[in-house]
Amino acid sequence: MPETQPGSRLPQRVRNELSIRPVTVVSKQLIAGQFYRIEVGGEALQGFSSAGFDDHVKLFFPDAVSGELPLPTVTPEGIEWPEGSRPAARDYTPLSFDAEKGQLTLDFYLHEAGLASDWATQATPGDRLAVGGPRGSLVVPEDYAFQLYVCDETGLPAFRRRQQTMSGQSLQLFAWADEAVGQAYLGDLSNIEVTWLGSGEMNEAAVAKLITRFEELRLPDEDYFIWLTGEGAAVKTLRDYFITQRERDAERVRAVAYWHLK
Ligand SMILES: Cc1cc2nc3c(=O)[nH]c(=O)nc-3n(C[C@H](O)[C@H](O)[C@H](O)COP(=O)(O)OP(=O)(O)OC[C@H]3O[C@@H](n4cnc5c(N)ncnc54)[C@H](O)[C@@H]3O)c2cc1C
Repeated sequence: MPETQPGSRLPQRVRNELSIRPVTVVSKQLIAGQFYRIEVGGEALQGFSSAGFDDHVKLFFPDAVSGELPLPTVTPEGIEWPEGSRPAARDYTPLSFDAEKGQLTLDFYLHEAGLASDWATQATPGDRLAVGGPRGSLVVPEDYAFQLYVCDETGLPAFRRRQQTMSGQSLQLFAWADEAVGQAYLGDLSNIEVTWLGSGEMNEAAVAKLITRFEELRLPDEDYFIWLTGEGAAVKTLRDYFITQRERDAERVRAVAYWHLK
């Protein structure tokens, strides 16, 4: 087999068998600013696996009024929910999984109001939840020479996961988050060049300003990876900038809307 040149390595997709696992809250801790760390556990987590730093699980929440949490059947044709009973779900990053204890760690950023954010605020040990996925993972080589990450608070859990394993000559993070909170949340950032852009500011004007700044940024032609997440419209503008204006390879620019302004 021919050897792959470092510059030609591309992220690889991995598919996982779909499972929806009932779990209960084991512990909850306020770890920085508005970030709650919640550990969930349960026998159903046996075999849980998450290969990509920015994987997501779908969290299914009990009905706020009845407290009911119906579970589906997973068939070869897909997921079948009992008639009309699909619970509300939101996407979260599996921060870490302890297979020995059967415990999955999730970090919730509490924004103003929303089903998941409110659930996390009120969660106490014993509360129920169901965890779906991760259905697929993108396995991104950890040692690209140039790596650029742009996100807001919702992307910091994935970045935290990434930060523990990545290496490269130029590692840069641009984060729409409060500096003190972001630093407390991420811990040691000694090998990363970080620019804090302020919380709640991932909007059109701020993205335009950041793009002006990126005009000065020398982008290599190979051995690079660019990760863009956060508010949907902002992510799309940034993606268009890197792919259309800066002519970067779409396979090396990972852009995912983590939430949409409504
Ligand atoms: C792949 C992926 C991974 C993610 N990982 C994480 C994670 O690990 N931790 C985490 O905290 N979030 C994560 N998110 C983001 C999270 O799923 C969204 O923020 C989600 O909308 C929160 O649900 P909610 O029920 O609290 O609010 P919703 O009911 O979805 O929204 C209610 C209102 O809040 C607004 N809103 C939603 N999110 C935000 C926000 N962050 N800031 C300001 N306003 C907001 C909406 O525009 C809406 O007006 C991830 C998203 C994706 C796609």
